[in-house]
Formats: sequence, structure tokens, C-alpha cells
Amino acid sequence: MPTMTSSPRDSRQRISVPRAPQQLEPTPELLAELSAASASLESATPEEIITWAHERFAPYLTMATAFGPEGCVILSMLAKVAPETYVFNLDTGYQFQQTLDLRDRIAEKYGIEVDMLQPELSVPEYEALHGGPLYKTDPNQCCFDRKIKVLRQASEGKHAWMSGIRRDQSADRAQAAIVGWDKKFNLVKVSPLANWSKSDIWNRILAEDVLYNPLHDQGYPSIGCWPCTRAIGQGETDDRAGRWSGTGKTECGLHTIQESDGSGI
Ligand code: SF4
Repeated sequence: MPTMTSSPRDSRQRISVPRAPQQLEPTPELLAELSAASASLESATPEEIITWAHERFAPYLTMATAFGPEGCVILSMLAKVAPETYVFNLDTGYQFQQTLDLRDRIAEKYGIEVDMLQPELSVPEYEALHGGPLYKTDPNQCCFDRKIKVLRQASEGKHAWMSGIRRDQSADRAQAAIVGWDKKFNLVKVSPLANWSKSDIWNRILAEDVLYNPLHDQGYPSIGCWPCTRAIGQGETDDRAGRWSGTGKTECGLHTIQESDGSGI
């Protein structure tokens, strides 16, 4: 059975985070460089893309992971090519216990300590402020407060972030570049697995015994916060059907395109 938790505030020692003295600016020169790199990396392997990103942006390269299968595959690759990369998780306080446990299993296996970044308010404080759980009445605001704001803070002092999105996951994600400028967070966004399929991911997990969330074996193909995630039933073909089910919401906002801003992803 899935174990739900509103986790206590994390008492782990803070992980030291490299901070750039200046943010990158999306100058025409930088955008042209990113566009050319993205085109040239279209047929590269994820490991080659990660290596390119590391050489170009370290130590100001970071990665956000929700410990999904894609993130776990990237973590296994980082362990080989750039284990010192700063990796963080948006720890909303509503994650499944299995997800929190995976963080520790990854640290043990790969030596990568994922930093658990929490919102300013704990779950009890946040729910008291809003007269109850906001995910029931305004999940967009809840995601904004407990994920987007935290990611914005985490992006300060960074030049680039990696994510595990795949183009075949959704219409929004279908337009993801391998490398592009992310207007929402003012960072270069690198998507090493953009061209991989779900089969590619699971073939790698099985071939290399990559750690993954045990909830995937219990009918949860996509895992977020426990209040907004359910197992999918037989006959449901959309892996994300169990996320914000019945609300019309499909994304937390981290990877959606800002239409009014142009091409930033
Ligand atoms: S996924 Fe649900 S619980 Fe998690 S931040 Fe978004 S609305 Fe809140």
C-alpha cells in the first residue's frame, strides 16, 4: 500500500550549494549558442548531453528531481559522469513515504545527496493559513506556493537546470528543446531524455538495476504528492491520468510553456 506523509521538517545538514556571482542573461549570442547546441545534441545520448551541460555550466548546473523513473535514470548517469552536480527535490510536505525513502536509497547507492528543499511554511502552518488543505480547492495555488516558488529560489545563483521530461509525455512537453532558455526561471534548461521513450527508460532501469520508486509496481506510473496522485486502472493508457485526476489540471507548472512569453520552456 502507498504510504502517505506530511513529512516533518527535514533536519538533515544543509548541503553546500555553489552560487554564481552573476545570473546568465539571454543575450542574442547565448540564445544562438543554445539553439546550435540543441540542434547538434538532437542525436546525442543522454550521457553525452549531460556531459556537455556539465562542461558548459558546472558548477552552476543543477537538477530538479521528483524521483520519477526518468530522474532516477539521470541520477544513475550523473553518478558516472558528474556526481558532484547539485541535485534538489521540491519537498512539498505531501510526498509519499516511498518517495522520501528513495532519496536515502539513492544517496547510499550513488553517493548523491539530493537536497530536500521545503517551502517556507510547513504543511500544518500552510493548512492553518488557508483554513484547510489548499490542494482541495486551489491546486494551482498550492503547486505555485509549494513548488514553483521554491524552484525560483533554488534557481538563484544557477546558470542551468536539468530535468527528466520526455517529449512523448504530453502536448506541452512535446515542444521541449534539448537545450533552451527557460524564461520562467531565467535559466538554461537541459532535457537529456527529451528523445527517449518510456520503454527506453525502463529498459535502462532493468539493464542497470537503477533504483526506482516501488509505487510504480503498484499501479502508479506517475507519482507526485499523495493528495493529487492515484493509481491508474486497467484500460487507462495515459500515464499521467492519475495526477490531479478529475480536476482538469495536468501539470504543476514547472514544465509548461508560457505562451505569452514566447518560446521559453
Ligand atoms: S501536487 Fe497537490 S499537494 Fe502537491 S503542491 Fe500541487 S496541489 Fe499541492
